[in-house]
Amino acid sequence: MIHLQGVTVIYPDGTAALNQVDLSIERGEFAFITGPSGSGKSTLLQLIYRELVPTEGKVLVDGQDVAKLPPWRVPLLRRKVGVVFQDFRLLPEKTVWENVGFALDVVGASRREKHRKVPIALELVSLSDKADSYPDNLSGGEQQRVCIARALVNSPAALLADEPTGNLDPDISLELTELLASIAETGTTVVMASHDKVIVDKMQRRVIGLVSGVVVRNDKEGGSYDES
Ligand code: ADP
Repeated sequence: MIHLQGVTVIYPDGTAALNQVDLSIERGEFAFITGPSGSGKSTLLQLIYRELVPTEGKVLVDGQDVAKLPPWRVPLLRRKVGVVFQDFRLLPEKTVWENVGFALDVVGASRREKHRKVPIALELVSLSDKADSYPDNLSGGEQQRVCIARALVNSPAALLADEPTGNLDPDISLELTELLASIAETGTTVVMASHDKVIVDKMQRRVIGLVSGVVVRNDKEGGSYDES
């Protein structure tokens, strides 16, 4: 589903963020990207949703070389790849329902489609009863679940989460990670960047470890944060 081949990213200021990364993540897999701050986790995710193109190498998503996509195809890729961020990025003046529906507005969905899909997405994250609430009146964990619903409402093939638990309490963080893992079970590929050792060790999933832009570990199931 997601393949990186000999990927190097050098930012315009000369910072080398990734160095010759080779990686494959298959459909329905749940994978952690771990590593200290500045190790390249966010850069790696940005390549997959084509916020960045590699300086060298190839990034294939669903068989497509994303660097070669013409600009008019980029929105189609973004429908296939949902993203969740540490800082939520919800629209404060819109309700939960409207925030999730907005992800369908931007891809030109009809009113009817919205009324069909938004309740399903909210149900998936157990927030049906908060549909009419505003983000400011929700807990951090609930806000992040709205973000997950928003990322899922287009039925993406992959869901990327960049430190999604960075602003949450430890027990809520684990619950949210378990929710993401259950989403992978439905066939959506989930890639989660995290430097939370407790969560990674508890989940015992695939772990791709980065240090200074280099993959230093690539453990299938049963990975923990820093075993070598
Ligand atoms: P992580 O997500 O693991 O914290 P990042 O991918 O954000 O790591 O960053 C990897 C490296 O690239 C770091 O050295 C960071 O300072 C640098 N970096 C990230 N974004 C940019 C940018 N836009 N311009 C220059 N350097 C950047």
